Amino acid sequence: MRPEKVFYEPESLNYELGKQLKEKFNNVPWIPIESHNNIEQLRKNPNSEFARMKRYIIIGVRKSLKYTPNHKISDYLVPYTSSGCSAMCLYCYLVCNYNKCSYLRLFVNREQMMDKLIKTANSSDKDIVFEIGSNSDLVLENTITGNLEWTIENFGKSEKGFLTFPTKFSMVDSFLPLNHKGKIIPRMSVNPEEIIRKVEIGTSSLKARITAINRLCEAGYRVGMLIAPVVMVDNWKELYAELIEQLSDELSQKAKKQLFIEIIFMTYSYVHCAINREAFPNAVDLYDKSIMTGRGRGKYWYKEDVRSMGEEFLREQLSQKLKDVPIMYVV
Ligand code: SF4
Repeated sequence: MRPEKVFYEPESLNYELGKQLKEKFNNVPWIPIESHNNIEQLRKNPNSEFARMKRYIIIGVRKSLKYTPNHKISDYLVPYTSSGCSAMCLYCYLVCNYNKCSYLRLFVNREQMMDKLIKTANSSDKDIVFEIGSNSDLVLENTITGNLEWTIENFGKSEKGFLTFPTKFSMVDSFLPLNHKGKIIPRMSVNPEEIIRKVEIGTSSLKARITAINRLCEAGYRVGMLIAPVVMVDNWKELYAELIEQLSDELSQKAKKQLFIEIIFMTYSYVHCAINREAFPNAVDLYDKSIMTGRGRGKYWYKEDVRSMGEEFLREQLSQKLKDVPIMYVV
């Protein structure tokens, strides 16, 4: 990605990564800001500017390094090297937190973040799993910063622990030769190709994601797979049956032996509706009143009976076509 503009906290240029980024993007405008959290000129933009703002990069120093306990497949959610994203999935969960300001922010104090990870991992009795990608897509971020390669190499110095992150991107070739020591667990998110094209704007194709899973497994990584989010468009049964068929045909034997699956149904919100209507007026409308219900504070999810029917369908398809791959949870 080549940004159109860079907004930066001047302090970030005191860090090695800040200096590297300044050199890399020295031919686009750099605009100083007080805080990456509140850029008034961007906050005041109308929703129709959403896609344009995704072409900006914000560079700053991450202040809060507080971990949040988690109980799915990791022990802690960890604030890491980025938040926000330059892709534009119409349901992106980050929009709930950052609204139209869900553009990519890069944090340059990675040494400090790694130091805390290694100290926490080493001081625990057990092998902790840290989720480092809950706030952005680190594979996409890596194409700009090289942070994931740096992370894989540096976390190798810890005596214990694992790092995990989800992604919708296939640019994994640079990780394949790294000495990951089995401590890194990438989790590839998949969806039917039609949903990827119409809804997950700017992400990798399904075919490329499947190839990336196979390559990572071949390179000895433990790899997970998310079917997420499940989007119940009119022809969802047909689309998800085809997806599972394609996964069964194209995943390697090695991948099938060690993958695990997470299934997450889509959550949507009033904020998504407002932004998408103005920023992507011709896009598919993901809000379907007939099958969705409120879920507090302007959020919507599928009605319980609809979601249960979806879960049953997916479990049945998976048991027929990918029967040896365990399903860790469905939400
Ligand atoms: S790739 Fe992930 S983080 Fe990026 S826009 Fe899509 S859902 Fe959001």
